[in-house]
Amino acid sequence: MIKAVIFDLDGTLFLGKTAIPGAAKKLEELRSKGIKMIFLTNAATRSRENLLEKILSMGLSAQKDEVYCSSYFLAKYISEFHKGKTVYIVGEQGINDELGEHGIRVVDEKADIVTVGLDRGFTYEKLANALKQLQNGAILLSSNKDTTYPTEHGVMPGAGSIVAAVEAASGKEAISLGKPNTYALEQIILDHGLEIDEVIMVGDRLDTDITFAKKCGIKSVLLLTGVSKKEDIKEIKPDYIFDSIAEFNLP
Ligand SMILES: [Mg+2]
Repeated sequence: MIKAVIFDLDGTLFLGKTAIPGAAKKLEELRSKGIKMIFLTNAATRSRENLLEKILSMGLSAQKDEVYCSSYFLAKYISEFHKGKTVYIVGEQGINDELGEHGIRVVDEKADIVTVGLDRGFTYEKLANALKQLQNGAILLSSNKDTTYPTEHGVMPGAGSIVAAVEAASGKEAISLGKPNTYALEQIILDHGLEIDEVIMVGDRLDTDITFAKKCGIKSVLLLTGVSKKEDIKEIKPDYIFDSIAEFNLP
């Protein structure tokens, strides 16, 4: 019996700054049936607090404890497994804010950890500094490895494209905390007192959302409003497919 639905955001509930038609109504309908909503994005450009504001601004209902982003998991993971370590950030405000909230010190030099997320101000200088820290022994973490993300203006380069540059320069492989890493699900079920078989994942990407569900051992739903199309479905198969959130129904 499904008690909670984990929704991806970009390409699933909204595109850029626009909610996908029917999204708000669907969330209300599910809530009225007593289903718990969880919002889980690989985006790291915002903190949980800031992401909540974005969700609310699009007329979708949410509370902070329902909202999860990879910037949060990055900070949570560092405070859990690398307590007291310093971090050099290639990324945007979301990672800064979450590291700050978790009391993690951010530095430009002598970093123990380099974290990489989507950085729309990415420069050769940042790449060179990340390389320097990594050559001096820093470990490499990333928020997510989505190579692209969908917007209302089409597909844009994602964090994964920047992570790839840092990996290529350094020869190190980043541990990524976003989907498909199962770390997110472990946190979510703990926070909300859920069992694994009570949760279903709804998303628009085979390589993150659907792969994440498979790795976690939960059922998955692919919506065709984002990155992955029907013809992309090969080895990674979702359990259910709907054209959009408006058509989605619980199995
Ligand atoms: Mg998505």
